[in-house]
Amino acid sequence: RKQLEHDIKVAISERAFQVYFQPQVSLTDGTISGIEALVRWNHHERGMISPGEFIPVAEKCGFMPEIGRIVISKAINEAAEWNRAGIAFGRLAVNVSGTELREHDFDAFLFETLEKAGLPPQKLSLEIVESVILDDEKTGIAAKLRHIRAAGVHLELDDFGTGYASLSHVNPNEIDRLKIDRRFVQNIHENGDNSKIVRAITELARGLGISIVAEGAETEAELDSLMAIGCDQVQGYSIAFPMPQDKALEWLTARMPKKAKLRVLQGSLA
Ligand code: C2E
Ligand code: CA
Ligand code: CA
Repeated sequence: RKQLEHDIKVAISERAFQVYFQPQVSLTDGTISGIEALVRWNHHERGMISPGEFIPVAEKCGFMPEIGRIVISKAINEAAEWNRAGIAFGRLAVNVSGTELREHDFDAFLFETLEKAGLPPQKLSLEIVESVILDDEKTGIAAKLRHIRAAGVHLELDDFGTGYASLSHVNPNEIDRLKIDRRFVQNIHENGDNSKIVRAITELARGLGISIVAEGAETEAELDSLMAIGCDQVQGYSIAFPMPQDKALEWLTARMPKKAKLRVLQGSLA
């Protein structure tokens, strides 16, 4: 643990954390609705260390705000390049933890990063777990989130269903999208309870005008069930794995509608 702590410090000073990207697609028309940035750490001796292993240590030692800023600025810079190149990616989604949001200048950092990179705030969303919003009253996080959202950044409740699933925050005035946790998506075609839960959350969100993305769909059978239920969007290995930026760019480019080519073709016929 001491060694890991030390190595995290070094990785921060070298800005060694990388960003992988995992697309989210619409289940109705297959268009790309978003792409989630996920931190990756290629340790010089141990190889890839998963966020599940180093994030808890980084949170405990107070390093998460710095790691988060490295990831967020790298992700925003990449998305700004896609945006300039006319590559469709929907919205870039970044994960933000409570300790990151509690930094007094988090909103200023975010706006400055967007502005410097030249990415419109409308092309960004923040994925936040429910507990962060719930512990707000003392910390002023809600006011900060309102400020960020007023600038056009979308807000999403991550891992929905695993925490309090408090309905007071499932409010279109506060939240733009719910991410249904993978545990409810897994084996949804066989597990009647899961399919009832996903159906209920989907209907609730639709009634309120909030969009829904199901996380962690791994199989064709799970995709079919989500589609039958009427879930809006999906993210998972069945669509694409998290990819480094060059592979993500290839993936996004390959999915682009071939309109431009068609236009050239028509032009040459005319
Ligand atoms: P999360 O935000 O719920 O991210 C989704 C996780 O599910 C990712 O794990 C992703 O690789 C994985 N996943 C996606 N599709 C599938 C699938 O079909 N099947 C399975 N089994 N897994 C799938 P990852 O990248 O290991 O990240 C774990 C968690 O670490 C994230 O969970 C998030 O809570 C946190 N995290 C990752 N990157 C960041 C970051 O930049 N900042 C912060 N604050 N947290 C991060
Ligand atoms: Ca997430
Ligand atoms: Ca999640």
